[in-house]
Amino acid sequence: MMKAWKKNIRQVIPYVPGEQPKETDVIKLNTNENPYPPSPKVKEMCSRIENLRLYPDPAASRLVDAIAGYKGIDRSQVFVGVGSDDVLALSFLTFFNSDKPILFPDITYSFYDVWADLFRIPYETRALDDAFQIRREDYYGENGGVIFPNPNAPTGILMPLDGIRDILEHNQDVVVIVDEAYIDFGGETAQSLLDTYENLLIVQTFSKSRSLAGLRIGYAMGSPELIRALHDVKYSFNSYTMNQPSILLGAASVEDDAYFRETTAKIIATREWFTKEMRDLGFTFPDSKANFLFASHESVPAKEIFEAARKQNIYVRYFNKDRIDNYLRITIGTDEEMRKFLEFLREYLHK
Ligand code: PMP
Repeated sequence: MMKAWKKNIRQVIPYVPGEQPKETDVIKLNTNENPYPPSPKVKEMCSRIENLRLYPDPAASRLVDAIAGYKGIDRSQVFVGVGSDDVLALSFLTFFNSDKPILFPDITYSFYDVWADLFRIPYETRALDDAFQIRREDYYGENGGVIFPNPNAPTGILMPLDGIRDILEHNQDVVVIVDEAYIDFGGETAQSLLDTYENLLIVQTFSKSRSLAGLRIGYAMGSPELIRALHDVKYSFNSYTMNQPSILLGAASVEDDAYFRETTAKIIATREWFTKEMRDLGFTFPDSKANFLFASHESVPAKEIFEAARKQNIYVRYFNKDRIDNYLRITIGTDEEMRKFLEFLREYLHK
């Protein structure tokens, strides 16, 4: 017989993050990390971390001010959290409280439905078209909120700003969240729309373009009213989400714009070169504006390539999911890593 207390346990199916192999001699192209180290200024700042016996500033003001200054917005428009996962989860909790379903694409970041289930938020997915594009008309109807990544993940496809404006025009009564985790690799941010749409929340991260996945820093930009609401929920849950080293090191990263531009430009250049090489090997993929490529081979199933690569200690991401189970999501690493991956492919595909 089932014990009575078990009935009160929340049943959820958790998100499954990409593998973090223990070995060090791997080529790791499976979780969209940045292959370059963070700014040297971050390392310098490491030696200046002190006072860990004290609680950190609950408002993380130093980091908030650095981000606000960098983005040219007011500090009242910035909210920081423990990676964008934390910011997004709190945003679901804060903004998606309607009886109507929230909307997001059927192929997208696979954490969205997990948070919706966890917080018991009704949701509906909207199918991407055959070219994996978001159809903006699908988001016109009544709903409890809208969220999508731009560029979308795992496709890498960017929606131009007029598409986002159009979705906002048709969604004035709900909060619209644009998850810009990958925006720094050639996309145009929706930041210019913030002044017009006070229901727009943009979420970004230090994990990809700032090479700081290990620190866990994400942030949201939005109207002071949205940011205040996020703070109220955060302070009702855990005042000290941001630890002191993250606050200091994150601010140091923001201060080194030259390094940020240099490394993101390198990744974009590698992506463009790698794209051409992959095409020559018989792969097709949508145009990516992210730090990964979503590729399918003309004759060899993605799953087989994924498994063969893994045996060679090359990790890419494979999703065993309807519509995308013949695709590999390949993170853009250094030129050398991509060259080794191409060597493996040439041999495996007999090209
Ligand atoms: N959004 C998208 C679309 C992502 O792919 C990821 C990375 N898994 C995140 C948000 C979360 O990234 P982080 O928590 O490292 O900021």
